[in-house]
Amino acid sequence: MPELPEVRVVCKALRQKVLHKRIKDLVILKEKLFKEKNVADFKKALLNKEILNIENRGKHIIIFLSDNIVLLSHLRMEGKYRYYDKPSPEDSHLMARFIFEDNSELHYCDSRMFGTFYLRDLDNYNKILPLSKVANEPNSVNIDEVYKKLKHSDVSIKTKLLDQEIVSGIGNIYIDEALFASKISPLTKSSSLSKEQIAKIIKNAGDIMEISFQKGGTTLFSYESLNNQEGEYQNFLKVHNDKLKECSVCHNPTKKIKVNQRGTYYCPHCQKEY
Ligand SMILES: [Zn+2]
Repeated sequence: MPELPEVRVVCKALRQKVLHKRIKDLVILKEKLFKEKNVADFKKALLNKEILNIENRGKHIIIFLSDNIVLLSHLRMEGKYRYYDKPSPEDSHLMARFIFEDNSELHYCDSRMFGTFYLRDLDNYNKILPLSKVANEPNSVNIDEVYKKLKHSDVSIKTKLLDQEIVSGIGNIYIDEALFASKISPLTKSSSLSKEQIAKIIKNAGDIMEISFQKGGTTLFSYESLNNQEGEYQNFLKVHNDKLKECSVCHNPTKKIKVNQRGTYYCPHCQKEY
């Protein structure tokens, strides 16, 4: 599942390919990914609009178009974009096809079909769901507010920091890496941690995800940014990787467990449970 660095890499790749292109046609093959409105409404809103900018907020991709139109795209588990200079044959798992005036095409493919599209405008896109509930990213989040939400919770710190309404963008891979860097066990109850410890985890998450973004993200299973381009950060993971059997710091075996059904890697020796 793409996390914050991967979504940032996708946005950057998309900007390089489709900025200032005008949508000539939109072919929707799987209607259920297009939420709230029907296919005709999406087409009516998007046809003849120019793509002005593409940004992210947490794991949401925000496509700003002319006439104040905003399209929100979320990749969820397996969503991928493919760009073609010329009209192209259908990719497998093709869900939607954006055809531009110059006949280039952007395809959205999704083998699991969990991805979503929402139609918004410039006035409402961040005031209503889904974006209204998305918290700030680690580098801009208010630590006092995060601490307030965690200090009475018996839920594990790992589970809490995966909640996109508390901090946005941290997913399963990077929370394991951030907790390893902070020497805190993923099983620690949120209420057992001090504000300073929580600040440290979030700072580490932000720093690690920035480095991953610089390296094109992490490809452990199937993530690709655009047109099969894989990331490189999987080579730099310190703990969240099946190939890493021992801790790089203490050389004791690392452990794989489930925390709230998510595969979780940690070093029981280096990471203390408070
Ligand atoms: Zn260790």
